[in-house]
Amino acid sequence: MPDLSRADVVVCGAGMAGLCAGLAAAEAGAQVLVVEKGPAPGGSMKMSGGTVWTAPSMDVMLRFVPAGDRERQRRLVDGLAPGLEWLRGHGVDTGTPFGGERQVGVELDVVALTDRMVARIQAAGGEVAASTALESLERGPGGGISAVNLRDADGTAARVATSAVILATGGFGGNLALLATYVTRYADSMLRRANPWSTGDGLLAATAIGARTSPSMSTFYGHTMPAPPADPPANRWTAVTQYGSQDMILVNVRGERFMDESISLADERAPAEIAQQPDGRAFVIVDQRIYDDRPLPGRSRTEIRPNFDGAVAAGAPSVTAATLDDLADGMAAWGVSRRGLLATLTEFTEAVESGRGAELRIPRAGSPFGLVEPPFRALAVRAGITFTLGGIDVDPDQRVLDRGGRPIRGLWAAGADAGGTYRSGYMGGLVLGLVQGRAAGAAAAAFARAATTPAAS
Ligand SMILES: Cc1cc2nc3c(=O)[nH]c(=O)nc-3n(C[C@H](O)[C@H](O)[C@H](O)COP(=O)(O)OP(=O)(O)OC[C@H]3O[C@@H](n4cnc5c(N)ncnc54)[C@H](O)[C@@H]3O)c2cc1C
Repeated sequence: MPDLSRADVVVCGAGMAGLCAGLAAAEAGAQVLVVEKGPAPGGSMKMSGGTVWTAPSMDVMLRFVPAGDRERQRRLVDGLAPGLEWLRGHGVDTGTPFGGERQVGVELDVVALTDRMVARIQAAGGEVAASTALESLERGPGGGISAVNLRDADGTAARVATSAVILATGGFGGNLALLATYVTRYADSMLRRANPWSTGDGLLAATAIGARTSPSMSTFYGHTMPAPPADPPANRWTAVTQYGSQDMILVNVRGERFMDESISLADERAPAEIAQQPDGRAFVIVDQRIYDDRPLPGRSRTEIRPNFDGAVAAGAPSVTAATLDDLADGMAAWGVSRRGLLATLTEFTEAVESGRGAELRIPRAGSPFGLVEPPFRALAVRAGITFTLGGIDVDPDQRVLDRGGRPIRGLWAAGADAGGTYRSGYMGGLVLGLVQGRAAGAAAAAFARAATTPAAS
């Protein structure tokens, strides 16, 4: 439990958004308390690849993220470089920047980042309390925030008085009931590919005091993961993720395609579609050319074979077959419609191999690879969820909005807790925490200062 019974600013969650918010508020002179539900700070940030990136320009953002809050997206594009400069100013080694047509950013050591941010918050007089969870928020008579209620891992409750709270609990990806309500009726088919503590506590606490939810509550960021019985441990997630799904054929149990696989850049779009298929089940299929990672015209740069094999080794059902008929027999044993599958694969191969992929009922705009060279391989997959893209509704300054669209005084949300920045597509997760957390922290510190400064007479 924290030592403080009163704080200028309370930050709930010590992942990317919470630590950036806590540090920004502390450096602005606020007495900061950061509470973390898990046994140590870091959250999904500390499990991540550490690539802090976004689009190099709004033109690129618009191209790859078809919907979402454009003003908040613009702030990501404008805020990445100053945010990284700010981290460097706090002694974080941000390595060598990289830049490409779609992405600019850096690769960070996430363990060093976590330790450094916690140390800087403490050096500024702040407290970071692990194993301490936000339970609920209180509003005072004037409607502004007046306190947070906390509970530690032993079940002990505490109340901390404050006028400024930042919600940074990492979204609701770990809450099956909320996922079933908002994302998919097949929520229990999904693999949780993130920290286990982000169970929507920020969202539940905020909505309980009148906050509204963002548009597009059904959207999430995730990846295509091996189906049960595969249940890979966290340190194997990236090795079994089907990052190359854009070059594969994806079907459901009816044997039908359900999306243009080629738009799933680095596998960013496919999971949202997989999660909506019957029983949340899907299957990826490749021929030998794709499995072998041959440099065909139109192939993405993503390697297929290592992660396909990784998923098989992890225990996901797979079939290797010399003919389409044998492939269909093998997949029929998983409940896949043999007739539907053969019709789909035959039509698909004919269309894409003759340059008519765009004419298919479900088009295939790029990656024109049918099943040409045996053996053919299929792998059972499911959606992995990393974090929810819908959540608490906020304005561009991260202020939490009530059901009438007015800011709730003294309440901000950042990172995955703040919904709607991207409503489909994806341009970085850590950058949300960096830019939005930093902005919320600075605003909360200024608000707390104004609240405690006697008015001039
Ligand atoms: C395997 C993996 C790889 C990834 N790689 C990348 C990458 O390379 N680049 C990228 O941009 N993104 C990546 N991401 C995504 C990135 O980690 C997230 O987008 C980012 O961490 C979100 O920041 P956040 O602060 O919102 O959530 P988190 O970093 O998860 O922090 C939320 C914190 O809140 C805590 N919490 C939850 N409930 C409560 C409560 N009631 N009270 C107090 N604390 C609470 C959680 O324990 C957690 O510590 C990756 C994620 C994973 C899992």
